[in-house]
Amino acid sequence: MKIARIETFMVPPRWLFCRVETDDGLVGWGEPVVEGRAEVVRSAVDVLSEHLLGQDPLRIQDHWQVLTKGGFYRGGPVLSSAVAGLDQALWDIAGQAYGAPVHALLGGPVRDTVRVYAWVGGDEPAGLREQITAQVEAGFTAVKMNAAGATSPLSTPAETAAVVARVAAAREVLGPDRDVAVDFHGRFTAATARRILTELAPLHPLFVEEPVVPEQSHLLPGLVASGPVPLATGERLYSRAEFLPVLNAGVAVAQPDLSHAGGISEVHRIASLAETYGALLAPHCPLGPIALAASLQTAFATPNFLIQEQSRGIHYNKDADLLSYVVDPEPFRFVAGHAVRGDRPGLGITVDETAVRAADRAGHAWRNPVWRHADGSFAEW
Ligand SMILES: [Mg+2]
Repeated sequence: MKIARIETFMVPPRWLFCRVETDDGLVGWGEPVVEGRAEVVRSAVDVLSEHLLGQDPLRIQDHWQVLTKGGFYRGGPVLSSAVAGLDQALWDIAGQAYGAPVHALLGGPVRDTVRVYAWVGGDEPAGLREQITAQVEAGFTAVKMNAAGATSPLSTPAETAAVVARVAAAREVLGPDRDVAVDFHGRFTAATARRILTELAPLHPLFVEEPVVPEQSHLLPGLVASGPVPLATGERLYSRAEFLPVLNAGVAVAQPDLSHAGGISEVHRIASLAETYGALLAPHCPLGPIALAASLQTAFATPNFLIQEQSRGIHYNKDADLLSYVVDPEPFRFVAGHAVRGDRPGLGITVDETAVRAADRAGHAWRNPVWRHADGSFAEW
């Protein structure tokens, strides 16, 4: 069996899919994308395809080595995401070739269901209670929300209070038996993060995510030591090597993205690395159905798994949503806030190829907003 064809599809709302076909007719799907840089990753996939065409798709580990290291220069979001999508597609093909779901190929399932959380509240507090109530009524046991929009470099009392008020409102709706995770999104300085973390501690968030931007990860030990709130990070880290320092810093939750951090192969290894620190895996996934399928396959086979992000109804999903490109929604039918393990081969989903090809003709040009502080200077989004 040889890899015969590799195609990419830019589909709304902001995704990039890849399709890998073998000469005996197997098709594997992957989702290689950096949100807002989809065209760039598409070019990277095209270049990397030179290494795969004509090769045995089942030599996943060897392909991973060549794709990540064979170009001499390595790492970074674009290359790591291109590799991630191709890696997912190769695992999808392997599952079909061996007649087994990916989680079986990773050593077999360690759980029957995977807890997922729903997004509430974009960057504004309006409607937060209603959104959380709707997710609770839909069965979810955990939600995640952004803490604030652009905030002064050292938060004012009003800004600090506003963050605490919205998390307190969430806690009130959720009660003590459900969870709220709070995403700082790297929007705060370390000093502001420390101040807000202290105030949030009594509200018992599941975790606080990206308390500082990744390039300030050397400040994480101080934030970890500043209080009891579990810290999470990792959506902007792309390899085991980049997770090592944050795990050493004491983060409680590792959040690699299956479509950014080298795919199923590397996230499986990142999970094992995190396990040696007693840290838990909560993969980032505000993306499409293929990235989520890859995440769930990994979660079913990962002992130190905590919870899975998923994008159904997320504020980014304007012109299409999680189910727009799959033939059968069953793998994403959540029961009491949990995905249920299936036994379909590969990634376990059937991509609606007709819908994907049609959507690619329209394409998309999604970009994240660029924010400014009141004085006109750049603000982290
Ligand atoms: Mg995040």
